[in-house]
Amino acid sequence: MNEPQRTCAILAIGDELILGQKTDTNSAWIADRMTQRSARVVEHVTVDDDERAIAGAMRRLAGGADVIVCTGGLGPTADDLTRRSLAQAMGDALVEDEGSVEQIRSWFAGRGREMPEANRVQALRPSRGRSLPNPNGTAPGLAGRIEVDGRGCEVFCLPGPPREMRPMFETQVEPVLAFEGGRVVRTRMLHTFGLGESEVARRLGELMARDRDPLVGTTATRGVVTCRVRSQASPSEAEAFRGLDESERLICERLGDVVFARDGNAEAPLESVVLGLLRGRGERVVVAESCTGGLLGEMLTRLAGSSDVFLGGWLTYCNEMKRVQLGVPEDLLSEFGAVSKPVALAMAHGALRAAQTAGGADHALAITGVAGPGGGSEGKPVGSVWIARASGDGTDDARLFRFGGGRSAVRQWSAVTALGMLRLRLDGVRTPLLGQIEPAQDD
Ligand code: AMP
Ligand code: MG
Repeated sequence: MNEPQRTCAILAIGDELILGQKTDTNSAWIADRMTQRSARVVEHVTVDDDERAIAGAMRRLAGGADVIVCTGGLGPTADDLTRRSLAQAMGDALVEDEGSVEQIRSWFAGRGREMPEANRVQALRPSRGRSLPNPNGTAPGLAGRIEVDGRGCEVFCLPGPPREMRPMFETQVEPVLAFEGGRVVRTRMLHTFGLGESEVARRLGELMARDRDPLVGTTATRGVVTCRVRSQASPSEAEAFRGLDESERLICERLGDVVFARDGNAEAPLESVVLGLLRGRGERVVVAESCTGGLLGEMLTRLAGSSDVFLGGWLTYCNEMKRVQLGVPEDLLSEFGAVSKPVALAMAHGALRAAQTAGGADHALAITGVAGPGGGSEGKPVGSVWIARASGDGTDDARLFRFGGGRSAVRQWSAVTALGMLRLRLDGVRTPLLGQIEPAQDD
């Protein structure tokens, strides 16, 4: 009934990866895509730019996997050895691929240049292999087959730069693999903000049992805890979807208002949801930041095209700037201190007021806190952060948080939590958020 799951190994090639000078993002990306396509990723290997090491890794992995995806080492220089290594692992010779020579030539011609002779080696491929066109660079990819003990393994070699590798994987590797054959694997994501990962896991309880189908797992990225639901053993597509729907319903029931998105943008889900909600309502936001030094503005501009809903903001680090730029009254600063509820609210209201000259904003977010390591006091220890939201309709919301983990973590948590507070308002949801100590109850 079900075909056995195809197994996949990933081989990252490059001295810079081995030495730790460059982070291997390709393997993680490919593993995620393979998993989504229902392959079982069995091994990740990293080797340096050494022909024997690369060929050896290819042959060893071919003994245990149906598919190997390699990245890197396809450039034109002496340290780019993937072509030769693949030929060696296949027991094959390299030949020049005429189509590839033409493609490389025209890549240069498109930039008004002649193809340097050095780039000609990039057109080599094993005689029994295929070249994979690369629309975004000079290095064509390669596809071949390694036989080990009478068993065949498909090998794909893709260039190292992610912006070249990813489209090639999507258009030329995924379709060829035709993973779906007879098997149905479907995934869903539910993004949450406001609870810690362990609390999410506690509430999900037995839904996270490792032998359950659908399988439910969680990951935490920059404050967002994502529940991944994966149906992997259902015999029919309809049943797989029913299982996912039911799991999704149970997760929402147990987590409630902290769920802010399903599927959607996997890289910046909170940012994309907040921008989308603002856009849908035709509303705009401004920010007033102190201890985060612009991180909130950075988050709001991380995704392209936010200028229709994010006007900009004020980076008021010292008291004088809070007073001059945002009109925070001197007596509030001296009586309550910069890290206080009245000052956070005054910053937000001041930002709303100041935005009027730029067409007006509907919401303002303000952050003022003690990021540390110095500057803490008994009443306001390091990690104390007031975050305020003020909106044009006269409503506001100010909360005190206590974040841990050092200066960088305190700043990151402050920025993402401000965004989380805006999301609560836009979704009409009332719930305390992780780290919140005031108001003590959601009242
Ligand atoms: P190469 O194809 O080996 O010449 O690699 C070209 C560039 O791609 C390298 O300088 C890296 O910046 C990048 N690169 C190579 N492998 C990876 C990887 N596994 N993850 C992310 N970037 C990579
Ligand atoms: Mg390299």
